[in-house]
Amino acid sequence: MVDKVLRIALVPSYSFAGENFGDGSLYATALILMEYFKKCIASTKYTSVDYFFEMKPAEVTNDDLVCYMLANQNRSIVAKKAPGQAIGGSGSTFYSKVDSAVISEIYIDTTAGDGNRYKLVANIIFHELMHNRLDAGPTIWLNVHNVVNGVLTTSKPITSYMDMSAADAAAMRRGLTHPRKQYTGGM
Ligand SMILES: [Zn+2]
Repeated sequence: MVDKVLRIALVPSYSFAGENFGDGSLYATALILMEYFKKCIASTKYTSVDYFFEMKPAEVTNDDLVCYMLANQNRSIVAKKAPGQAIGGSGSTFYSKVDSAVISEIYIDTTAGDGNRYKLVANIIFHELMHNRLDAGPTIWLNVHNVVNGVLTTSKPITSYMDMSAADAAAMRRGLTHPRKQYTGGM
């Protein structure tokens, strides 16, 4: 069997000191995401999962996932690409028709002060990456806000108390079978 790595590109675009979320925090968040995604890649074409903080735009394929980590909503790439588009409280995912690509982003300031901030950031990223593959146009495979037994698949605010459920993993697994062009303009 040929090795196929699911590559998660996290793009930290904020001041580490200003947001009090630096290298160690990013690493802790990435490890939680790895635990989640290891459970999601079963029975997919992916044989392993890895994370990257400095992937180059030219390296990104439709089989990868990209999430921008922005300081706050004012830095939203989605808002710039789609003026008037309502953005989410802690993150947004949007299909840019101009780019024919999906943009996933989270706002790191909204997680400040949480008792388990690494987990909260990981949970928000995971939620946005489910939108990325499942219901941010052009094709809707599954409504991420309406999944039976979903925990991170919810329309409720994401918290650090939430843990990926089997239903969440199944949803992401389904998403992983649908490659989607990732927006690389902010990398
Ligand atoms: Zn959502």
